[in-house]
Amino acid sequence: MRRGGEVGFPEVTSLNALEQLIDALRCLPGVGQKSAQRMAYHLLQHDRAGAVRLSEALRAAGERVGHCDRCYTFSEAGLCEICQDEGRDARLLAVVETPADQAALERTGSYRGYYFVLQGRVSPLDGIGGREIGVSQLLERAQDGALEEVILATSFTAEGEATSHVLAQALRSRGIKATRLARGVPVGSELEYVDLGTIAHALVDRR
Ligand SMILES: [Zn+2]
Repeated sequence: MRRGGEVGFPEVTSLNALEQLIDALRCLPGVGQKSAQRMAYHLLQHDRAGAVRLSEALRAAGERVGHCDRCYTFSEAGLCEICQDEGRDARLLAVVETPADQAALERTGSYRGYYFVLQGRVSPLDGIGGREIGVSQLLERAQDGALEEVILATSFTAEGEATSHVLAQALRSRGIKATRLARGVPVGSELEYVDLGTIAHALVDRR
């Protein structure tokens, strides 16, 4: 077995297992040193079985979950369940920022079309433009015969609005109808945190 510190093999870490766990937990959004510590202590003190379950679930998900070939949401198969469902309305395509936003739209029960999940959102300051978030894949997908309307369901944050603007321009310049969720959704909102009734209304009132 190779050990850290050998020639040509950088010292991987001098942290002990507890420190490594705390460090690893900090990769989660919103988790700083203190909460990572609390989680690690909790798992080791009160829930060893939970810790094992967590590590196995993480490994399995990391190995098995990929992206749908058609809509790019998370999927273990080449095509996700929604893309495989031929009973959906092929005239509609909703563009969302994340699989979580897709799930939020899906929970409203008022949308029966298909989806396209972006690879993030436009952020000029970080050098992330249309190309980086998958605009060419979207255009290709949107030129699929049966499609009549692309619904831009990006969030109502500054970056979500910028994303929607970039996509609308690209779609309309190719003669594809693009609509935007109505303004019922509060400004600054991530879709996944908006209540279902509001999303459903924003969907109906899209323009
Ligand atoms: Zn799919």
